[in-house]
Amino acid sequence: MNLCVIGTGYVGLVTGCVFSDLGNEVVCVDKDADKIAMLERGEMPIYEPGLEELARRNVEDRRLFFTQNLHKAVEHSDVVFICVGTPPLENGDPDMRYVEEAAKGIAGALNRYKVIVNKSTVPVGTGNRVREIIDRHKRHDVDFDVVSNPEFLREGSAIKDTLEPDRIVIGAPSQVVAMKLLELYAPLERPMIITDVASAEMIKYASNAFLATKISFANSIANICEAVGADVVQVIKGMGMDNRIGPAFLNAGLGYGGSCFPKDSSALARTAEKVGYDFKLLKAVMEVNKEQPVRFLDRLKTAMSGSFEGKIVGVLGLAFKPNTDDMRDAKSLEIIANLLAGGASVKAYDPIAIENTRRIFPQVCYMHNAYQAAEGADALVIVTEWNEFKLLNMERIKASMNVPLIFDGRNIYDPAKLRRLGFEYHCVGRPSAPLK
Ligand code: NAD
Repeated sequence: MNLCVIGTGYVGLVTGCVFSDLGNEVVCVDKDADKIAMLERGEMPIYEPGLEELARRNVEDRRLFFTQNLHKAVEHSDVVFICVGTPPLENGDPDMRYVEEAAKGIAGALNRYKVIVNKSTVPVGTGNRVREIIDRHKRHDVDFDVVSNPEFLREGSAIKDTLEPDRIVIGAPSQVVAMKLLELYAPLERPMIITDVASAEMIKYASNAFLATKISFANSIANICEAVGADVVQVIKGMGMDNRIGPAFLNAGLGYGGSCFPKDSSALARTAEKVGYDFKLLKAVMEVNKEQPVRFLDRLKTAMSGSFEGKIVGVLGLAFKPNTDDMRDAKSLEIIANLLAGGASVKAYDPIAIENTRRIFPQVCYMHNAYQAAEGADALVIVTEWNEFKLLNMERIKASMNVPLIFDGRNIYDPAKLRRLGFEYHCVGRPSAPLK
């Protein structure tokens, strides 16, 4: 099939590469000239394990193309995927201007019947809105259909998630239209749910809001554990063994960040508000998430004699989660901003996200590895649970720090072991380990 993918971000680029690898001819479009130039040079504008190789293979086999020319790309295609960003506005609504812009572009290029597939995360009703825009702006009297096919990939494992999704959601106006998508996804042999457009749009928001709820629930339990001397890691392990609960996304820490959970929770809360439903549960989930780094910073400040002024703090992990360079709503942003505002000097290390962070905090000292970040520090803060931080030589870290104080926002270390090594180790929801 001839496909066009609009938007070459985390979703569009991975979708384009995977569909071309399945044998389709795919043209990926972006309005960002730099991104297209990079892609044409064979460089990836984002970090995603395995993506560069996948793209190279399909470009070489002439199944995958990159362009800024949306018009030509749409004209050439049978199915057009909208994968543009829907970032949050101040009021919590998603900014729909990119989706609307894409819809107008598609309308101008509509030369024969096409299926327009919305992969961007969009509020219920967007399918109709895209249909109206295309209808209003199309130049030829040709038919088209709009389908909702929300994306569930996770950055860091995006290729695997696209090839092996838990489910494929297809919200289509009719079975015949759904069949077109079914055909496209058939080689993956994964479970599919075919439903109406509005329900598909809602499935995405409901899923992300539920995952956010699990995280805030775990954090609330962690905060009680801290006060009563229980260990949240054990508590969650015990909870997760119950098949009705499951262990996924029940991790205590600094809370959820990234480009999806915060914005999708706000967007769903706004949808509820607009239809007159007070979504108290979701509001509480967001509130807990907002408080989590504040509590952590308060505890850090107390452990540092009540002030960050003049202190050196090492920060390990900058990206919003491991295996990505995405800094959108990363907890490190809030942690670093507070440390700097309090007068601390920050030495930071992340395996991938340093360049993206440097643009936001040029005043931070960026290090080549975790050991350098710890050297001379009055505290070491773990913000992202990259695997390479889990097995550091902690004796070496301790010997190089000014004060052996560790604040672990992701519970990656064994408190007893760090205590034995002579660290003052604080984590989330587990008994503190004072220096003995
Ligand atoms: P992104 O910001 O990484 O990429 C979006 C791309 O679209 C950018 O490169 C931008 O230049 C391009 N673009 C915007 N308007 C355009 C236009 N009119 N024509 C051509 N290109 C245009 O975004 P993303 O992270 O890939 O997310 C895309 C959508 O998918 C969002 O709605 C997001 O919520 C959803 N989503 C994201 C993830 C994720 O993990 N990133 C997962 C599931 C769903």
